[in-house]
Amino acid sequence: MAVPSALHPFDEHVLTAKAMAFSVLARHSHLWIDEHLPLLSELETVIGKAELLRKVARENVALPTFLKDYVGNIESTVGPLVKNSPQLFEGYLADLQGIRPEWPPISQQVERWFDNLKTIGADYLKHSTTEKPKLPPIHLEQKVSPEDCTLRGLGAATNEDRGGRIITLFYDREAFGKESFLSIPYMLSHEFWCHGLSRLAAKKTGKGKRREEDDEGEDDEPFGTDPSNGFEEGWMDFVQLEILGRELRPFIGMPSFEALFHSHSAGCQVQRNAQKGNAVISHGVSVADRFYTFLEQSFDGLSVKELTSVFLQTSLDLNLLSNRLGDKPGLVINLGHKLGVSAASERVRPEVMRDRDLAIVSMREQLRLDLSSMLTKTGFPAIDLLKLLKIKR
Ligand SMILES: [Zn+2]
Repeated sequence: MAVPSALHPFDEHVLTAKAMAFSVLARHSHLWIDEHLPLLSELETVIGKAELLRKVARENVALPTFLKDYVGNIESTVGPLVKNSPQLFEGYLADLQGIRPEWPPISQQVERWFDNLKTIGADYLKHSTTEKPKLPPIHLEQKVSPEDCTLRGLGAATNEDRGGRIITLFYDREAFGKESFLSIPYMLSHEFWCHGLSRLAAKKTGKGKRREEDDEGEDDEPFGTDPSNGFEEGWMDFVQLEILGRELRPFIGMPSFEALFHSHSAGCQVQRNAQKGNAVISHGVSVADRFYTFLEQSFDGLSVKELTSVFLQTSLDLNLLSNRLGDKPGLVINLGHKLGVSAASERVRPEVMRDRDLAIVSMREQLRLDLSSMLTKTGFPAIDLLKLLKIKR
């Protein structure tokens, strides 16, 4: 039985059409150089106008018919404009025609990615955390809501939902452009790892033991983007991108587009970090990145595989902790300080900077010794790490 789409049919048709035509073009656009660029930009404009086929959508046509008319419209509008090198446009069109019959509706494709994430997530909870909690019930919603979109015609949010989590992916149908579809895995992956799997160990000490006082007090803070949370929004964003890269094949399941999805995900992170108001988030990404490199430089005895698992498990363990059990944004700042990663608001004079460079060398050496003494087979115990960095709650 066909599952009804989460989106209005017209939205579904338009978003799917643009996703398909832009993604296929992304495989070709590097061939279009110099004198072909004006035609490429014309082609992008026509691809972006899927809404103009409104008449077809109003007559309640099925998606395959809509896509056929849409590709036909690209051919008849752009075709006459081609003067030099017709093989570029012909190659693109042939690729598009070939892929059209098997291109799935966008909401179905996104559901598929989300299911893959849950499978991968359950596996990481089992093999890469100390507490090994079960995956909570996590649901996906898809909505067209331009006012909730902040990046590349997309937006996303995570909320609590009766003991589980609900992740919403927002679309801006009109702003949905050449980078949008290729950026959806990044948006999903961020919500899933950074928020969907955070704070699952709300009533534990982080060492598997239950302490009375952990059960008291208020609930965790509500979910939602908090640009002052350098851990969940910053550090974990670095971590989710690492996992996305490692799990590209089982997550995306579209081998011929894999490299494009990977590079667009990295691009999303850079673009998000540069956005106004996101300095703390950007700092969190830098500290996680620096810490990972620091481990590589400081622990010669560990293989690359071991280093990766130490870094991932330590991060996921911290993410699982309730905010009441440790000030994770504070950990990012204190660890960043020891590693010599300056926060955006710090303005240091050059002579002070030189003294600090010398101090940092000895601080890093001390950090290496401290970390060596607490390293277990699988990572750094979250609570010990918070203690080392003098984080109290
Ligand atoms: Zn977030």
